[in-house]
Amino acid sequence: MTQRLPAATPPSVLPTTLPVDATSSTKKVTRELLRTLPKTDLHCHLDGSLRLSTILDLGQRQKVKLPADDEDGLARAIHKGERCEDLVHYLKAFDVTCSVLQTEEALERAAFELAEDAAAENVWHLEVRYAPVLHTRRGLSLARINDAVLSGLRRASRKYDITTGVILCGIRNMDPRDSYRLAELAVVYKGRGVVAFDLAGGERGNPAKDHVKAFELIRQNNMATTVHAGEAYGPASIKQALHDCGAHRIGHGTRLAEDGDLLAYICDHRIPLEVCLLSNVQTGVVADLSRHPLRLYFDLGVRVSVNTDNRLITDTKVTDELWRAHTELAFTLEELKILIVQGFKSAFLPYREKRELLRRVNDTLAELTGSLPRGAVLAREVDIDDELLRDAFTPEIRVDTDRV
Ligand SMILES: [Zn+2]
Repeated sequence: MTQRLPAATPPSVLPTTLPVDATSSTKKVTRELLRTLPKTDLHCHLDGSLRLSTILDLGQRQKVKLPADDEDGLARAIHKGERCEDLVHYLKAFDVTCSVLQTEEALERAAFELAEDAAAENVWHLEVRYAPVLHTRRGLSLARINDAVLSGLRRASRKYDITTGVILCGIRNMDPRDSYRLAELAVVYKGRGVVAFDLAGGERGNPAKDHVKAFELIRQNNMATTVHAGEAYGPASIKQALHDCGAHRIGHGTRLAEDGDLLAYICDHRIPLEVCLLSNVQTGVVADLSRHPLRLYFDLGVRVSVNTDNRLITDTKVTDELWRAHTELAFTLEELKILIVQGFKSAFLPYREKRELLRRVNDTLAELTGSLPRGAVLAREVDIDDELLRDAFTPEIRVDTDRV
């Protein structure tokens, strides 16, 4: 499905004055080494990333009928790690996970455990996304749902060395008025744990531009957006995400390689792609990993990060995604380190916080691999002004808070 574009020289990100051995490492890449490195997970769905044992436990406590009563049976029922016919088929697993995520306790626990699992593989920054509208079956308000998720993430951040942010999702195949309500919720929680707004769900036949009002509200309130696009539909969907919705990042972007002009635009404007390798194989977006366009994007200098999408349903971790980039797409340790750094650069974090985090990341990568990531030496030499305009103003929230 991908048109192979001619390989190009990466743009001039390499400083010319590096010490000779500053960007080369002789360390052997192992899964364990990758586990120890600091990482981000910027594209991770709460309802796709529960523990099997937690689903069973919650089902029992809440008297919810599940398709199986043991972990193996449940894994089969949700197609854990299996290739699915298409995205719609894949999304069916979420009916099971969402059936036990209808109480505040369950949502708090799921969010906490997700951050705990991420911290266990040294994810230092996690952005969790979900659609609160899928958790209202037992009468919870959107605000109470979101409070529960934020509370679970805060509990994990107190216990582990991990920062977190929530991305609220509108759903493509739902009424655009629902997306608008979720955008309002995102604005109300701006600066209080919600960092961006997304559009998820079946891409084909459900154009992002139908939800343009929600994105207008988000942008008018100076919030960040990311949109699932170019996963189950072609580059036209990515164009809409960028130009109709104002996306600051693209979820997946797997089919971007079919449009060289758009690819150049994304690269030139440093718009990050949230790549999810194993999820793309599971949903049949790519025939096999060796044909994934991540390698092409990276070689062309596009800002790319690797992410899990759904830790449970896809049966993956960021460590696994990096490992497969190494084994199937021949990413060297130096290249994997750049992928990692690009993840941190792409995070929806305040600039000053991100800069401090990146310093720590560079130092830790150097310590664990024997060399700094490429570009890090130059970045450290740049003297950056510390002032942040944001601190000087109280943001004006333009949303009718009574409706949330
Ligand atoms: Zn996703």
